[in-house]
Amino acid sequence: MRQEKIYRAELTACFGDPVDENPTGVIEEAGFAALGLNYRYLTVRVGKQCLEDAVKGARAMNFRGFNLTIPHKVAVIPMLDELTEAAGLIGAVNTVFSQDGKLIGENTDGKGFLTSLRENGIDPSGKTVTLLGAGGAARAVSIELALAGAGRINIVNRSETRGAELASSVSEKTEATAAYIPWTRQLRIPEETDILVQCTNIGLFPDVTGKPDLDYDSLRPGMVAADVVFNRPNTPFLQEAARRGLKTVTGLGMLVNQAALNFSLWTGMDAPVDVMTEALAKEFGLDP
Ligand code: NDP
Repeated sequence: MRQEKIYRAELTACFGDPVDENPTGVIEEAGFAALGLNYRYLTVRVGKQCLEDAVKGARAMNFRGFNLTIPHKVAVIPMLDELTEAAGLIGAVNTVFSQDGKLIGENTDGKGFLTSLRENGIDPSGKTVTLLGAGGAARAVSIELALAGAGRINIVNRSETRGAELASSVSEKTEATAAYIPWTRQLRIPEETDILVQCTNIGLFPDVTGKPDLDYDSLRPGMVAADVVFNRPNTPFLQEAARRGLKTVTGLGMLVNQAALNFSLWTGMDAPVDVMTEALAKEFGLDP
């Protein structure tokens, strides 16, 4: 007798604009295939004005969940039923998952970053962190570092309003002490820094030669330098840091680990992280 077969696929997606060069689909689809899951991940261009329709569509089509990227991470919040605690503190959502008919907003960017640090043997608890940038990635990373016990967080940003706002938000919402440091020319990194995190767009494709304006001689070998930029992972910032003997962490680990967290939220299963890392490395022509 013919066995019943399920032809219906479970749907996941990324909504953004621009989104054409977002590689998350490669990582998620490799994970689905490795576990034999009939899931799809669609990379979909959704303009600013169309987000509400896209979210209604995802509800109507029973999506398991979706990612949000530029410019939707904050705008999506009123369209959701609930937020996780971290997404509420961060004030931005990069992942939505469906649970008991509700769309729940989470933010896995900072958690992906933390996992990547820990995979590199770095525990942020009690550490002093200096963070370059105060945009969406910096918000997620600083809040998660604070929740993970970082003692002090220095926020360095070009625009004062954004930098000062993030520093006071981290101080108010978490146990960490945060302070804004204006980004003066050839900025010296505070000596007491244990972890220096590059959270701006500098070094992002296509301007891959871009390098933050720092006094690189203020970097000490005892510090760790991490970058969130992933599409040319060995950024000029990391190259300068490595040249001075710092341990370095690229943005690839953050990307894979946020994808792995999304995978688990959507499927309820542990993500095959090795397979997903290998797929990304192959895509970027790197050694896994
Ligand atoms: P936003 O646009 O929200 O923020 C950009 C930040 O970069 C702001 O703080 C901005 O400063 C600063 N900046 C941009 N250009 C310069 C410059 N020339 N000099 C000094 N500061 C500058 O972007 P996101 O936070 O969403 O993204 C930042 C980076 O994080 C991107 O490269 C993105 O690819 C990466 N990312 C990586 C992820 C991963 O998984 N590895 C996940 C998410 C993001 P100002 O406020 O003054 O404008």
